[in-house]
Amino acid sequence: MKKDLTSEIKTELKERLHDKDLKLTHPREVIAEKILSAKAGEHFSADELWEKLRKTAKGVSKATVYRTLNLLVEKKIVEEHDFGKGQKYYERMVERPHHDHLICVQCGRIVEFENAEIERLQEVIARESGFKLSYHSHKLFGACPRCRSRRQA
Ligand SMILES: [Zn+2]
Ligand SMILES: [Zn+2]
Repeated sequence: MKKDLTSEIKTELKERLHDKDLKLTHPREVIAEKILSAKAGEHFSADELWEKLRKTAKGVSKATVYRTLNLLVEKKIVEEHDFGKGQKYYERMVERPHHDHLICVQCGRIVEFENAEIERLQEVIARESGFKLSYHSHKLFGACPRCRSRRQA
């Protein structure tokens, strides 16, 4: 299953790159594989991804990491988030159910949630304003339990 998905994405990536007169080079493939092997619920910045790749994959430049990430976002293979941390964060989108995020403004911890009632209400709100939703992104900011108990101590 996993293998099929990866090859499917590779095919898509190849097509995408071909449109731009680019090839699915080894570095790009290494980057895509690294992202797809990421654990569900892992959120990472481009710099963090590059740091990880630097140790294992030689010859992968930072610019290639950034460009490949953008391609994967365009292709909806990767989702891009602004968690208010001064840089963009990314997560694998394929084989993942929709979810929203809670962000700790103190330690930066990210917690995922899904709430059927919120999902439903969004549809109602959009419909009432004549909108047809294409996507949404909920971000709730605050202090996580760990940071809250540290404060009290
Ligand atoms: Zn997430
Ligand atoms: Zn925290």
